[in-house]
Amino acid sequence: MEKSQIEFRNVSFRYHDDSPWVLKNVSFTIHSDEWLAIIGHNGSGKSTIAKLMNGLLFPQEGEIYVSGEKVVPETIWDVRKQVGMVFQNPDNQFVGTTVRDDVAFGMENHGLPREVMVERIQESLDAVGMQEYERQEPHRLSGGQKQRVAIASVLAVSPKYMIFDEATAMLDPKGRMEIMQTIRDLQSERSLSVVTITHDLREVTQADRVIVMNDGEVWMEGTPRDVFSKKNRLVEIGLDTPFVSKLAEEMKSAGLPLSREPLNHQELLEELW
Ligand code: ADP
Repeated sequence: MEKSQIEFRNVSFRYHDDSPWVLKNVSFTIHSDEWLAIIGHNGSGKSTIAKLMNGLLFPQEGEIYVSGEKVVPETIWDVRKQVGMVFQNPDNQFVGTTVRDDVAFGMENHGLPREVMVERIQESLDAVGMQEYERQEPHRLSGGQKQRVAIASVLAVSPKYMIFDEATAMLDPKGRMEIMQTIRDLQSERSLSVVTITHDLREVTQADRVIVMNDGEVWMEGTPRDVFSKKNRLVEIGLDTPFVSKLAEEMKSAGLPLSREPLNHQELLEELW
C-alpha cells in the first residue's frame, strides 16, 4: 500500500448497538496530493466518515488506515497530527483571544517547542493571507476570515491531510469564494491531500475526484466530469448537476460555442460565481 494515503476498507459503522448502520461496507482511498470531494444529501454519512478519519469514532467492522497506520485508540494522537479537520462553524473553533493565540493553541496541544511555534504561526497565517490580523480578536473578523484562521491553526500542526467538513456552509458567497481559493492554493502549493465534504455541488467541480454517498453507501465515484455526466444517477438520489454543468450542456446542444474546449468546469465556475 502507498504510504501517504487514507484508506477505508469495508468500513461499517453505527452509533449504537441497537441503531441502524449509518455506513455500510464503505471502501475508498484518498491518494497523496489529491483533492477528493465527498457529497451526498443530509444524513448520508459524510460527517461520520470525517470523524472516522481522525479517530473521533471507530468502526465496528472494517479498517481505516492513515499513512499505512491502522486507526485505533492507541494511534489516534499520531493520526490527529496527520489529519487536520476544519468544521462548519468558525465560531466554535476559536479558543484564543487573538488570532495568534488561536493558531498557537493547536500546536500547544501537540507539544511543539516554542521556537517552532513562533515560526509556524507566521508561516501558516501567511499561507491563508491573514498575516496582518495576527493581533486581532477573532470575533471581529468576517466569516471567511475566521475560517481562514481556523485553517491556519490546523496547518500550523503540519498535517498531511486536511478534511473540510461543510467548511463553507455558514459563509456568504464572498467568504465561500475565499475559502475555496484558499483550499485550492494549499492543495496545489503544498503536498497536502484535501477532502472537502459538502452538499453543494458547485464545490465539487474543483476536486480531482468525487465520491457520492447515499444512505451510508458509496453510490458513485469518479472525476467531477464522470459524475456529472451520469445525471440520472444523481437525480435518482435527489441531487442535481451544478448550474455551470447544465449551462454548458444546454449551450452545446443548442450548437453554441463554448469559450474553451474541452469544457473546464473550474474556469466556468469562476466566470459564473
Ligand atoms: P451527513 O454528514 O451526510 O449529513 P452524518 O454522518 O452526520 O450524515 O449522519 C449519518 C446518520 O447518522 C444520520 O442518520 C444521523 O442521524 C446519524 N447520526 C449522526 N450523528 C449521530 C450521533 N451522534 N448519534 C446517533 N446518530 C447519529
